[in-house]
Parts: sequence; structure tokens; C-alpha cells
Amino acid sequence: MKTTYKVTVGLEIHAELKTESKMFCDCINNPHHDEANTNICPVCTAQPGTLPVVNMTAVENVLKVGKALGSSLASFTEFDRKNYFYPDIPKAYQISQYQFPLVTGGELEGVAITRIHLEEDTARNLHDQTEGSVVDFNRAGVPLMELVTEPVIHDSKSAGKFAKELQLLLRTLGVSDANMEKGEMRVEANISISSSDELGTKVEVKNLNSFKSVELAIEYEIGRQSQLLESGSQIKQETRGWDEAKSRTFSQRVKETANDYRYFPDPDIPKYKLDSVEEFSNSRLNEKMPKLPNEIRAEWDLLEINRDITEVIIADKALTRLMTETLVELSNDKSMARLTANYVSSDVQGLLSAGNLLHDRASKTLANLIKMLSTNELNSRVGKDILSQVIVDGKDPKELVEELGLKQESSPEALLALAAEIISENEAVVAEYKAGKEPSLQFLVGQGMKKTKGAANPNVLRDVLVKEINK
Ligand SMILES: [Zn+2]
Repeated sequence: MKTTYKVTVGLEIHAELKTESKMFCDCINNPHHDEANTNICPVCTAQPGTLPVVNMTAVENVLKVGKALGSSLASFTEFDRKNYFYPDIPKAYQISQYQFPLVTGGELEGVAITRIHLEEDTARNLHDQTEGSVVDFNRAGVPLMELVTEPVIHDSKSAGKFAKELQLLLRTLGVSDANMEKGEMRVEANISISSSDELGTKVEVKNLNSFKSVELAIEYEIGRQSQLLESGSQIKQETRGWDEAKSRTFSQRVKETANDYRYFPDPDIPKYKLDSVEEFSNSRLNEKMPKLPNEIRAEWDLLEINRDITEVIIADKALTRLMTETLVELSNDKSMARLTANYVSSDVQGLLSAGNLLHDRASKTLANLIKMLSTNELNSRVGKDILSQVIVDGKDPKELVEELGLKQESSPEALLALAAEIISENEAVVAEYKAGKEPSLQFLVGQGMKKTKGAANPNVLRDVLVKEINK
């Protein structure tokens, strides 16, 4: 009989922080700069005699993440040297944090957080066919946060969900773009299986650069490790890479003993009593916190906005802002909120992804459009037709409708002449309808909508047509 194994996963997630300058120097923080070795200086290339200066915005960013996760923020912190040699680490040590991380504890998606610390990113090794191996230092010294979870995840889906929610949180806080395919957020998974209550041997899988890869790699490892144990073999404690194309992990480095990085406090960097820094006081940090995804979800749930629609909107900063501000304009009216959510998640989203930008007044003009739609002053077809002018050009829908003669006509008297015209122009179709062919009526209504560019109220027009035909 096959044994059932208990799966245990812990995650280590690195995210490049979006600051103006690098972690310890004034260089522009742009690791994606096309031309190699442009954003560099003596500090981030480790020239002798240079001194690092801590980027306090990076510190603040990590504290904000901690706040959002309900963690404890450190009252004291220091930076340490993590010693190892590699061509992408010019000092032969990385400045990181060991004993006194900025953030400890907290929780996200039910997963307990161990710590978050701040360090510097490494340079990038490029293995070129013609030039051989070269190093690009644009990324060296970019502020990098490392978040470590407790080993409390027990399936691949939960791991993927955690990473996705963290990405959303980092984007909402504006601290990182966290694009996984650009390496702005990198996930490592520590995976072990065990048939007893004791944890099994831990295997670390690196370089997971999509949520799908996170899930697939964990599933692959559960399968591989189960097979090994079933066949009576031991699991080696090792670091494995992820082969995206073949959808499998492969051995990179077997760890006989734990790495000895000989951490020690960096003597060039002052230690900080963070609780006496005014900028980082509870009240100052609170002022800088935006509404978090879970707060938005709770508010929109109360407005009975469909959860799937909420997720589409909150995944995009511009849509979230438009939605939030429009709701304020509409005094959080429930029925109008749902209509707004439908427009924002579909038509507005479409306009933005086609490269359009929202006008400064977009929330006001969109709110006016929604009001006109909900009072039937405007039908939904016209609403969609003029949406771009309303939110991209910032035009007031009332004036626009006046200008274009698109006001919805709902009075039967006013639609009488139109109905007569349609009937006289479509004698054959009218005869079909009289003979019992129901869809013919829809065709006649459609003719009226065409003639009025969508301004006729189709329901009223239908009634008038029926009355006139049967007269
Ligand atoms: Zn620099």
C-alpha cells in the first residue's frame, strides 16, 4: 500500500524595491537599463575606501509591508555582512540583515510570516556566446526585501495563492512592481515530505518565476520525493533549479552542511534605534498606508459587488483608484456601485489596456454617466458608445448627449412618428410579424435603434410598435 506523506512547504520571496536610488548609493535604481554598467558608481562596484549610506525609503517600504501584514516592526536594527565569493558580488560579501531584521511575525492568506529583512541585490552575470561571461552591475545594490514564511503550507495551490496575494500587496503599497517574469519578485520553495510528525529532509527549489512554476515545482517535488521514499532511498538535502520547458526540477548543489556565511555587523553602517526615528513612528507610517486589498474586498462585499469582478479591479492600480473615487461620487449607492463595477472591470479595463489614459476628472464624469444610466436617461448601448469620451477626454455625459442628440427617448408620444416610419418602410417584415413570426418585431425595434443612434428606449419603442401594428 502506498504511504501518504505530509507535505510541508515554506517560502522565501525576494522583491526588488521601487526606490529612486539604490540601497547604499545615489545611483538610479533601474536594474532593467538596456545598456550594461550605466547605473553604477564606486560604492556599488565596491571600490576601496567607499562607504555605504542606507536608503531610508527602502527601510520605510519594508516597514510598510510589515504593517500591512500585522507584523512587529523592529525597534532596533543593524546590517550585517554575509560573506561569500561570487563574480556578481564585488565586495565578496552582501550587505544583508541577520540577527535584527526590520520585520518579524505577521500573517498573509493564513500563512505565518517569520521575518522580512532588507539587503542589496547582486549584479547580473551574462553568459554571452561571443564575449564569454560578463557582469552587468546595473542591478548591484538595488534594494531587495526578503520575506521568509514559516513552514506551514501543505499544498501547492496555497503556495501559489500566497505568492499572488503578496504580489498584489506589494503593488498596492507601491513598494515594488513585483513582476515575476522580470525578476522583480523571485520565489524559492523549501519542500519536504514526511510520514511521521517530524519534518522530512528539506529540498530548496530556486528560480521560480511564475505562480504556475511555483505550483508545478512543488507538485513535481512531492512526486519525486514520494517515489524516492517508496523505493527505500534517502532524500538528499539539496538546492534544485526549475526547468520551465521540461516542467521538472534538477539538482544544482548538494548541501553537506549548512552554509557558513560568517555573518557579522557591518562596521561601516550605523545601528538604528528605529523607534526613535520620527518618520517611522506608528502615526507617520499610518498616514502613508493606502487601503489594503482585504479592506477593499470587505467594503465592496458590503456593496454586493461580485468577488470575481472585485479581483479584476484590484489587480490594477488605475482601475482601483477610479472605482474607489467614483464610489465616493456616488455616495456608495449599492445599485449604482454594481453598475460601476461592471463598467470598470470590462469596458474601462478594455480602454486602458488599449493604451488610453484616464482623464483627471474621470471619476466625476463616470459617476455622472452611471447616474444617467441608472435613471434611464441613457441606455446602455449609448453609455458604452460614449464611455471613451467620458473617461479619457473627461467630457460631461450630459453635455455630450445634448450635443450628439443621444438622450434616451422614453415617451411613447415622441416615439409614435418613428414607429409609423418603421412600419411603412418595412411592410413585408410587419406582415411576417402579423403572421406570428415573433423575431420580426425585434428586427423592427433594431431599425428604430439604428435610426436614432441608440437613443430610443427599446422597451417603449417595442410597445408602441405592437400597438401601432395591431391598430
Ligand atoms: Zn552606485
